Order: sequence, then structure tokens, then C-alpha cells
Amino acid sequence: MDRLWTDFVNSDYHDWRGGDRSEDRLGRTEWQQEFLKQWQLKAPIPASPEEERTLRSFRGKLHALATRLSAGNPLLDEDQEWLNSMMEEGKVTRRLHSGDEGLRLSHIPVGTQWQQVMAEVAGDFAITVVEGDGGRIRICDNTDCRWIFYDDTRSRTQKYCDDKMCGNLMKVRRFRAKRKVNQKQK
Ligand SMILES: [Zn+2]
Repeated sequence: MDRLWTDFVNSDYHDWRGGDRSEDRLGRTEWQQEFLKQWQLKAPIPASPEEERTLRSFRGKLHALATRLSAGNPLLDEDQEWLNSMMEEGKVTRRLHSGDEGLRLSHIPVGTQWQQVMAEVAGDFAITVVEGDGGRIRICDNTDCRWIFYDDTRSRTQKYCDDKMCGNLMKVRRFRAKRKVNQKQK
């Protein structure tokens, strides 16, 4: 399942089939609209060139950190400080809701700037590390794809972002490679 922070990081889209559809979607107005709508956040659209630069550099840092944690490395003091500095920019209010599943406590973002959006993304990443396990962060094993996701399988062995898509594609590729080798041997 996509999370706020993985959705943000994956805006740098890689064509998982190895074609030419790879594109950095972050600067696209439609991507910004969809993203904010999906996560119920507010910010000016389109982001200004300066905001876009800041978002991109934030995404780069977050991506690097996620990659380090996915390799089993711990969160360092400096990472913690960096996340704190990003989260500090976004204020929230608390609200109790009663719904079908009982009482819920929500943290509602106050700001309507991209700084607030980045604070929410950083906060969601922090929740992954605190309530989950940084070692379960994965980068899809299909080198064309490199989608970032959180492995919540019991066995902790999820290799592909999606078994039906990348998993199948890699299976077919392995099969073809094997067949090639077999043909050469004949
Ligand atoms: Zn994938």
C-alpha cells in the first residue's frame, strides 16, 4: 500500500517495463493536484520554481535516507535532526472523530504551504520508523522500476513493488534468459 512519503518519493517515476515513460512528475501540475487531493493537503498549485527546487532537494534527501535504512542501517542523530527540522515547519491541530470504527484522533495540518506538505511527508516517514521498521523499507528489485515501498508481509521477503507487475515481468525475463542459455548450449 502506498503511504504519503512513498507516494511523494515515487514522484520520480521510472518506467518499470524499461521503456521511455520515465519522468519526474513532481513539477507537473496534474501530479501536484492529485497528490494533494489524495492526502488531503493544501498548497499553492503550481508550486513556484523555488518551491519546486526545495521539494526536489527534500525528496532527494529523503530518498537517500530511505535507501540507507532499507539496507539495514540505523537512523543517525543527524537524520533525526534533519527530520525534526522539516517537521517543525508544519503545525497541526488535534481532533477527535467518531466513526464506524470507533473513536479516532486526527492531526490536522494547519498550514497551506508546501513547507507544511513537506512536514507531513517527513512526519509520515518518521511514523514508519517509529511504529514500523526502517529495515522493511524496500526498493523494487526490478532495476528499471526502483519503486520505493514498505514491506508489510509477515515473511519480510517482498522483493517487488507489485507481484503482478514487476514480479511477473522479472519471472518472464528470467525464463527468457534461461531459454537463451539453453538454446546456446544445443
Ligand atoms: Zn516495481
